[in-house]
Amino acid sequence: MLLVLALAAGIWFGGSVLGLPRAARGPLVGLLFVAVLGIQFLFPPGHGLRVATGGEPALWLLLAGFVAVILAYRHLLGRLKRRVPVPEAAVATPVSDGPMSEAEVERYARHIVLRELGGPGQQRLRRARVLVIGAGGLGAPALQYLAAAGVGTLGVIDDDVVENANLQRQVIHRDQDIGTPKVFSAQAAMMAQNPYVRVLPYHRRLTGEVAADLFAEFDLVLDGTDNFDTRYLANRTAVALGIPLVSGALSQWEGQISVFDPARGTPCYQCIFPEAPAAGLAPSCSEAGVLGPLPGVVGAMMAVEAIKLLADAGAPLRGEMLIYDALWSETRKIALKRRADCPVCGASKGTR
Ligand code: ZN
Repeated sequence: MLLVLALAAGIWFGGSVLGLPRAARGPLVGLLFVAVLGIQFLFPPGHGLRVATGGEPALWLLLAGFVAVILAYRHLLGRLKRRVPVPEAAVATPVSDGPMSEAEVERYARHIVLRELGGPGQQRLRRARVLVIGAGGLGAPALQYLAAAGVGTLGVIDDDVVENANLQRQVIHRDQDIGTPKVFSAQAAMMAQNPYVRVLPYHRRLTGEVAADLFAEFDLVLDGTDNFDTRYLANRTAVALGIPLVSGALSQWEGQISVFDPARGTPCYQCIFPEAPAAGLAPSCSEAGVLGPLPGVVGAMMAVEAIKLLADAGAPLRGEMLIYDALWSETRKIALKRRADCPVCGASKGTR
């Protein structure tokens, strides 16, 4: 029996040294167990192989029972934890319109000393309601920084669950979050980082039925999605409601960001991208690849633009697009023009 246990330990720890993930080592140990049970049941008592692997199947069955109970307990505990993603204290902390607590003043001190923000700017962030579409590559870093910066109410809508291949860049999620809806994983991370903000997770896809009602609850929308249908829908809805839209996009080594705000004279997303590219011409991140830190750069820039818009600081990227080429360490800004015949914001809208 000791021999088998040593073999199992060898597979587990040896595999770990060789870099095999838990998910691969578990079945290997399971296979060993099944082989040993097979020996116990198939070989007659007293057979050399049976004696060497314990002699009696009862002992092994007892051990399997113990392991099963422990695994079931861990599974149950994991499910309970996922059902309560937000620490109680975080939920209990209300986002109030009143003066900031001492702890909040201390937390945001580096903002408050900034001339362009100051106490009033921080209060504006605290009262602000920002919706982030997508808790993936771009949404995740934007959310992390907006929560840390003290944006009082953060909505996040996404219908995806965390996948292993997301974790090379989406650092708001952790290995243990694989399989958890991204909005809940992101919510837990933000509440753990800053209990002074409120996070509203919407675990669903943004559709035409809900977009207008949802957007109306927010002052500003950040679009970090990777599909054109959602981008056009977010743009149409934001334009109709007069809400500024901070839009970011990525491919491989390059990122781009702009603020679309036709209510204040800028073009809208559809002025710049009148039609979605034909299928295959704009490959997604999963097809073309994307450098891990790049969404962090562009997502953090989206958070910067959001804070500037909310606090009315500096010059947000209205009517301009900033393009960052990570491979050649180059940035450039291009001016964007509104299209008179844009079906969303143009003069001809509604007459078509
Ligand atoms: Zn337009």
